[in-house]
Amino acid sequence: MAERKCRRCGSNLGVDDDLCQVCGERNPVRHPWYIWPLAAVIFLLAFYFLVDLEALRDYVTRPRVAPSGGD
Ligand SMILES: [Zn+2]
Repeated sequence: MAERKCRRCGSNLGVDDDLCQVCGERNPVRHPWYIWPLAAVIFLLAFYFLVDLEALRDYVTRPRVAPSGGD
């Protein structure tokens, strides 16, 4: 596990801490540049596998039936 240190005072930060306990400096976690395209790909894959595309297409292309006021 990578040790994170405060960029201002150099004291150790907790793994999930953005705020330094000692000096209060914000130390935002830096994400690598590829995290966003990767997240987009994962999102699209999840969408592709989780959503029933045929049902969606049927729903979109099906002619709307006007509500007849119950039957
Ligand atoms: Zn600090």
